[in-house]
Amino acid sequence: MLRRLFAALALTALLGTAAAQAQDDYPSNVITIVVPFSAGGPTDTVTRLVAESMSRTLGQQINVENVGGAGGTLGAGQVAKANADGYTLLLHHIGMATSATLYRSLPYDPRTAFAPIGLVTEVPMTIVARGDFPPKDMSELLAYVKENKDTVTYANAGIGAASHLCGMLLMSAIDTQLTTVPYKGTGPAMTDLLGGQVDFMCDQTTNTTEQIKAGKIKVYAVTTEKRLDILPDTPTGMESGLDKLQVGVWHGLYAPAGTPEAIINKLSEALKTALADPTVMERFAELGTAPVPADQATPAALQAKVTSEIDRWAPIIKEAGVFAD
Ligand code: ASP
Repeated sequence: MLRRLFAALALTALLGTAAAQAQDDYPSNVITIVVPFSAGGPTDTVTRLVAESMSRTLGQQINVENVGGAGGTLGAGQVAKANADGYTLLLHHIGMATSATLYRSLPYDPRTAFAPIGLVTEVPMTIVARGDFPPKDMSELLAYVKENKDTVTYANAGIGAASHLCGMLLMSAIDTQLTTVPYKGTGPAMTDLLGGQVDFMCDQTTNTTEQIKAGKIKVYAVTTEKRLDILPDTPTGMESGLDKLQVGVWHGLYAPAGTPEAIINKLSEALKTALADPTVMERFAELGTAPVPADQATPAALQAKVTSEIDRWAPIIKEAGVFAD
């Protein structure tokens, strides 16, 4: 009896030592960051920039895996179920909070299924259209889409995506329902906008700035309170009479709930280093965004953001009466 007890204690101690060793050695394997949208889109762009820098700090390869679909909830659901060992992470955006209301039956609880690592960035949105879309400015756009509501098409990345949220705000402001064309991310939506297969969309500056500057697409408004330095001639939604059209797309890095604290802290430190990396900062600036301040790249700041944003968007979404299921 006593012998069995000793054996059990020894095994527990051994397992504890192995777990501590795994945390000390972390990361000893390739890390995967799941992006819940297609490659080439704005969340993907932010993730690849940050992952490259974090990989240098951690001395380990980081792969980016695109798992698009269902407005970001497919990829998030995949990471919620992954091993909590620090080797599968998720870089998601504001959809982490809005999907909590948009989906009445999500296979994970955004408040508890993840161990937050830190906030990454907040990106403004732009309302853009194919290059030959007739309206010249925002007021013409609003009149045009109202008049042609049966033929105009609005691209988004599925219900729960930021482009869906922005479109929902726009449509409810002008009290008009448009035909939406859902993609697995706004990377492919931009390809179709450039090809003229879809009329307009609302997307992050990280995906639209270069196309706007190259004159390939039209821009009507930015969703910030003030005009952006990189697009000084583009009015805000507010200037165009749409005072509710204010939305910033914040991004956060997560691990599955239960990931050891020592690993989360290592990742959070590497994230902070990435956000202070001149290469990342420079590219972010070119794309109309900036890293969050260092004190926001923390588990506590991201947890607080998820909770406050779920509370902030729930009544707005309920009032608009849009649900995915
Ligand atoms: N910008 C997309 C959205 O609408 C997502 C993406 O492709 O990054 O949420």
